[in-house]
Amino acid sequence: MELNIDALTKTYPNGVQALKGITLHIKPGMFGLLGPNGAGKSSLMRTIATLQEADSGNILLDNVDVLKDKTAVRQWLGYLPQDFGVYPKVSAEQLLDHIAQLKGIHNKAERKALLAAIFEKVNLTKHCKKNLGTYSGGMKQRFGIAQALIGQPRLVIVDEPTAGLDPAERNRFYNLLSQIGQETIVILSTHIVEDVKTLCADFAIICDGEVLFHGQPDEAVKLVEGQVFTKVIEQEEIDTYKDNYKVISTQIKGGKLAIRIISELHPDNGFVSVPAGLEDVYFNTISERTEVITL
Ligand code: ADP
Repeated sequence: MELNIDALTKTYPNGVQALKGITLHIKPGMFGLLGPNGAGKSSLMRTIATLQEADSGNILLDNVDVLKDKTAVRQWLGYLPQDFGVYPKVSAEQLLDHIAQLKGIHNKAERKALLAAIFEKVNLTKHCKKNLGTYSGGMKQRFGIAQALIGQPRLVIVDEPTAGLDPAERNRFYNLLSQIGQETIVILSTHIVEDVKTLCADFAIICDGEVLFHGQPDEAVKLVEGQVFTKVIEQEEIDTYKDNYKVISTQIKGGKLAIRIISELHPDNGFVSVPAGLEDVYFNTISERTEVITL
């Protein structure tokens, strides 16, 4: 299975150009789509999930034309939207059973066995009879994955799934996502670098509706290895440093400012060389398009 997105564009009626010619080739495994808020991630996810039209371009899932043959794509698709709402007064079991019926599983015994297996997988067996309104954020997200996994999808799309989860819930969710079969394409849209670092063998950075980088996390880090330097400065000095160096991120520490810069040569002037991380790649890549990130 392969997903080929080619020169995809979308302008909303209010004039916002959300996708400016996105081209991406995505293979089975976990693919991270990393970008700041407003980058166009959800617009792209919704288009691949057949929920919204593009203005131009193509998407092929193997030989299936995603933009034209929506019904065929939906049979292969599992989708966890960013704003996954649940009916609070319905139990997880009732809602999942309903969704399974909508996905075409009409045999009651088959549904029962399937639900039991999926609840076990997402670790909600104990809670499946509870109303969804009583679920924590992490439990709701795991329920969201449960519904996305019905029907053994070959393409799973999860849009900002870890936003708002505490670290323990996020870990549980990571474990769950990493268990989805290697044959399946899983697209994880996120603005959290940690998500990509932990889970993804392949990723892209998008910003302003454009792909700015596509590659493997390790290779990406190698590109800036040896070029990241840090220094603690007074907060009011920041503008001078921004004028003279490529500042990619800042962090307030004890009233002062720890800044990270990218430089091919050692800048001296009190800067210390530090190991590069995926965050440096990300902030460096988007720094030309956005304000410097404050951590
Ligand atoms: P992300 O998911 O990366 O935060 P989105 O795809 O939600 O980005 O948004 C990309 C841009 O398109 C933003 O400027 C956003 O305000 C705009 N946008 C998104 N959805 C709509 C819509 N339905 N109508 C108008 N503008 C939209």
